[in-house]
Amino acid sequence: MPDLSGLYQEVILDHSKRPRNFRVLPDASQQADGYNPLCGDKVKLYLRLEGDRISDISFQGAGCAISTASASILTETVKGKTRAEADALFDAFHALVTGQPLPGDQHPPLGKLAVFSGVSEFPVRVKCATLAWHTLKSALRGGSEVVSTEGSGDEDLAAR
Ligand code: ZN
Repeated sequence: MPDLSGLYQEVILDHSKRPRNFRVLPDASQQADGYNPLCGDKVKLYLRLEGDRISDISFQGAGCAISTASASILTETVKGKTRAEADALFDAFHALVTGQPLPGDQHPPLGKLAVFSGVSEFPVRVKCATLAWHTLKSALRGGSEVVSTEGSGDEDLAAR
């Protein structure tokens, strides 16, 4: 666990110990698996799409505190959002954890996602934080292949 600042670390630990929406979603319309071979994090996301909106979302899996907390907070954040809103959150979150400038002032409010801002100082942890988000993208595309954080481009972004 990197030495993130106090309050943020508390939120991450809370979500990693008591992950929200940690269950199978029996009537899921989409699902996807993600794997981060660098850390061994695994996540499986279940989504129910109603029209263009994510009406319910849950996850299962095992990984480090950051990957579990990220998946937990992701489910809380994107539930009820449209695909476009989820995409915008992905972009803003990705910029945050890779230390990039946020995409203009059009980006959605980060809310609790801000607790991951310190991750940008720990490039090796970026993939732990983004795993669930890459998996979400795959689930929204209806992808059935396991998403790997390898080749996701995060390493290049984090090294800049
Ligand atoms: Zn990890």
